[in-house]
Amino acid sequence: MNTTANRRNWPAVAANLADVAGRENVLTDEASLDRYSADALTPYRAYYADAAFDRLADVVVRPADAAQVSQIVELAQRAGVPVIPYGGGTGVMGGILPVRGGIILDLGRLNRVINIDPVSRTAEVEAGLILQDLYDALEPHGLMPGHDPYSVPIASVAGTISTNGVGYRAAAFGPMGDQVVALEVVLPDGRIINTRPVPKQSSGPDLNHLFIGSEGTFGVITRATLRVFRKPEAAEYATFEFADFDAGFAAVTEMGALGIRPTLLDLTEDSEGVLLHLLFEGYREGVDAAMRRTLSVCDEAGGWNVGPEPTLSYWKHRHDSAMNYRETALGRPREERWRRQWGRTFDYLHMSLPADRVLEYRRRADRLLEARKIKVVEYCLWSRPEFFSMLVVPDGDRRVVGRDGYDPDVRDNLAAGVDEVLTLAQDMGGVMEYCHGVGIKLHHLLGRELGVSRDALLDIKRALDPAGIMNPGKLTL
Ligand SMILES: Cc1cc2nc3c(=O)[nH]c(=O)nc-3n(C[C@H](O)[C@H](O)[C@H](O)COP(=O)(O)OP(=O)(O)OC[C@H]3O[C@@H](n4cnc5c(N)ncnc54)[C@H](O)[C@@H]3O)c2cc1C
Repeated sequence: MNTTANRRNWPAVAANLADVAGRENVLTDEASLDRYSADALTPYRAYYADAAFDRLADVVVRPADAAQVSQIVELAQRAGVPVIPYGGGTGVMGGILPVRGGIILDLGRLNRVINIDPVSRTAEVEAGLILQDLYDALEPHGLMPGHDPYSVPIASVAGTISTNGVGYRAAAFGPMGDQVVALEVVLPDGRIINTRPVPKQSSGPDLNHLFIGSEGTFGVITRATLRVFRKPEAAEYATFEFADFDAGFAAVTEMGALGIRPTLLDLTEDSEGVLLHLLFEGYREGVDAAMRRTLSVCDEAGGWNVGPEPTLSYWKHRHDSAMNYRETALGRPREERWRRQWGRTFDYLHMSLPADRVLEYRRRADRLLEARKIKVVEYCLWSRPEFFSMLVVPDGDRRVVGRDGYDPDVRDNLAAGVDEVLTLAQDMGGVMEYCHGVGIKLHHLLGRELGVSRDALLDIKRALDPAGIMNPGKLTL
């Protein structure tokens, strides 16, 4: 793509966009371009990609419906300029960063609930709907969504589909991708496809999966039909303490083998000890039976029941970080958002491995991090034994220096250590990220994870998007 030529064309592109979406929905002022050109990732944690923050979007457009999205995408095709779908802008990997400039396509005005169907237990909604608004719309029908991330108050339906996010109820309902029944998608040439709202097909491949977790590289999701769930008639919270992580892990895998499916499952080890947080939801008899058997499973694994309170409190505060983000960061200038993080040198890593490798992985990762004087302050299994997270901080001297509030040597060491443990996960048969996508932060490691699969993805990309306009520079495509 010839960026110099593109830059010359911007006033004309902006005028054409205004013809489609209305002048008031086309933003070219410096402040808007600045705030739309980053998500929740800060340059500090984009270790090998912080140059990506140098490029701002050229224009932001806020379409009203799929027809306008289609016209905008066609227009971008003709002009040969990038289009970057923007949901809530809360991604933590830099997925919406306009690394080659272009049009930020803010889906925020596509926020209607089209239909709620209590019989099929589905909700048909527009792409930009914020998850909290979906919860609120379902509540009077006695229904709820299956996806419940920390970021419920700030993340959008299509953004969570495009990153295939994981939330607090994923132990029972799976990640956001599992909630998708059907999608409406504007393809890179402007055509609109609709998959059918049935839970399973045997009439060709399931095209929904081309867009789930694809970070906007294959098209723009404009509408989704999602699975929804009856609000549970019974809920029981339980907390078990274990002497060590391995004992808790044994309890979790035994529960899985027996087919016990709590909605929440979180095994966390931190400075306070090892706690297993569980929530059982559903019909009364099922919840009681699952609780009874879980008590004996945890007892046999050496755990002791410390009552519901720690998990009740955990559950009550699960969205606090996102509410704080909404109050103090969302929509603010980039520098102001980044300043919140100054001097906070940590990283939160989310690997997925075959369950039988997780404990060995932990021991090997510990050794790598120890050698670099990086401390793990929290280990966690979230939802299932394969989903393993580590919160890491530089050990010892954490001087805050420089304009951005960090010591470059400490940062470089953290970056190298993070790469070592992420590639270890890949080398042990796992993946480097199960939750937040790749964005720009993990881009440099994706090629080694995908191997030949990357060629297949690239072939599909070239067929659907020969000019490469859809969120270029992401997913190695
Ligand atoms: C405080 C906080 C807590 C968080 N907690 C969690 C958590 O518990 N679990 C979790 O999984 N994540 C969490 N996140 C990360 C973030 O909320 C998720 O990654 C979320 O899925 C992103 O949704 P979004 O609407 O903000 O997407 P955006 O950041 O706007 O976009 C994410 C990606 O999706 C693409 N995209 C957006 N809309 C479309 C569309 N219509 N069509 C095609 N592509 C599109 C974008 O181009 C980008 O690549 C958290 C973030 C914060 C700030």
